[in-house]
Amino acid sequence: MAERDRRYVIIGNGAAGTTCAETLRKLDPNCEITLLTDEPYPLYNRVALPRYLKGIVREEKVFMRTREQHEQKGITLLTEAVAKSVDAEGHTVLLEDGRELPYDALLVAAGGKPNRPSVPGGDHRAVFNFQTMDDTRAIIDEATEGKHAVVLGGSFISYELAEGFAMRGLHTTWLMRSKPFLRRTLDAEAGALVDVLASDHHVDIIYNEGAAEIVPRDGMIGRVVTTTGREVLADVVGVGIGLTLSTGFLAGTGVEIRKGIVTDKYLRTNVPDIYAAGDIAEFYDVHIEKHNLMGTWDNALSHGRVAAVNMAGGNEVYHEVPTYTSPLFSSNIAVMGVTLENRPDLETVTRASLEDREYKKLFFLEDRLVGAVTIGRPRGRKRLLAMMLSGERISGPREALLDAQ
Ligand SMILES: Cc1cc2nc3c(=O)[nH]c(=O)nc-3n(C[C@H](O)[C@H](O)[C@H](O)COP(=O)(O)OP(=O)(O)OC[C@H]3O[C@@H](n4cnc5c(N)ncnc54)[C@H](O)[C@@H]3O)c2cc1C
Repeated sequence: MAERDRRYVIIGNGAAGTTCAETLRKLDPNCEITLLTDEPYPLYNRVALPRYLKGIVREEKVFMRTREQHEQKGITLLTEAVAKSVDAEGHTVLLEDGRELPYDALLVAAGGKPNRPSVPGGDHRAVFNFQTMDDTRAIIDEATEGKHAVVLGGSFISYELAEGFAMRGLHTTWLMRSKPFLRRTLDAEAGALVDVLASDHHVDIIYNEGAAEIVPRDGMIGRVVTTTGREVLADVVGVGIGLTLSTGFLAGTGVEIRKGIVTDKYLRTNVPDIYAAGDIAEFYDVHIEKHNLMGTWDNALSHGRVAAVNMAGGNEVYHEVPTYTSPLFSSNIAVMGVTLENRPDLETVTRASLEDREYKKLFFLEDRLVGAVTIGRPRGRKRLLAMMLSGERISGPREALLDAQ
């Protein structure tokens, strides 16, 4: 009897899920691939949403795939299709609308849903998260009406909101419950540089205060009362206070879940034929020799590819230096490899100049460069990354690497 074609189901059509689907197609021209998302769209570029918010990029440029492209590749894309549960023994995904999708291998690449502020007024319609195309459209509609914006949180997303509002001409106040921005990654010197960059862009930062209440006025937001009782005018509020990873539909499967879905270095979970990739995967990171979560675009792409190889019977280890790069007002930030957040015992060398708007901190484990944080011109980043990846031994003075080209 002829063998049946393999059936792959992928939950989540972001960078990880879509890359996995397209890699599977390359590896196996005959397999059945079903890619599903609870959103209404094929893949779009989340990293480009801030540029769309700022008005630099048009909406159509944010989309990366069309339905026709999926059809041409023989990938069945189900939009507004919500995975409700997984029957791991029966190898079936159940959707909220009652459909059942049998699989030989399943990838969970469902990312996370952004947290809402749990304060009075936190559910007002002009309090926005910033995760999806629909969030961005709604912010643009509201932000073009208003004069004052307040941003909550010390994350990359809250930075993007602060810059986006400021560039749309709103007077913007950014509240962070702690100091500095990205407090687990940046030190006080880097924080001081972020202050200067924000003030160059007319964003007022208030540290060590969050929102205690969001007070409406005439159906709109009127003001935000902070945890110290200060009152800040607001027509719109942007929120970047983290994600809750979308693991609920795996209840009862036995898949190990900590913050994310735990996988080995091949992106396999502890349950046969179930894999995880992208933001949601708490994967064994051979670079830092422990489990890691990485909310980055590049990581999601690479995970998607490696997961596909292994779902199709391969044995590839995920081995990349974790890297997050982002604009930072008129500057750039890169967080590469291991930092004090992952390993407090690292040795460091730092160079910082407020005047030049430059900051570089390198992290060493014994005689190897294992991580770096840079703000400013991206010069030298590639070289540093190559050194981290190769694990080459550093014999000369470490400070010399601050000038790497
Ligand atoms: C505004 C913004 C700016 C960013 N900027 C940068 C940057 O500058 N650099 C960088 O490296 N990274 C950046 N990121 C992060 C990066 O975009 C993410 O790490 C990456 O997109 C994650 O991809 P993913 O495939 O893991 O998940 P996602 O893209 O989150 O895709 C998961 C999909 O699964 C869907 N889903 C969830 N649950 C279900 C369910 N039950 N059933 C069906 N579908 C479901 C979700 O709705 C979503 O569509 C940014 C993110 C945002 C939001």
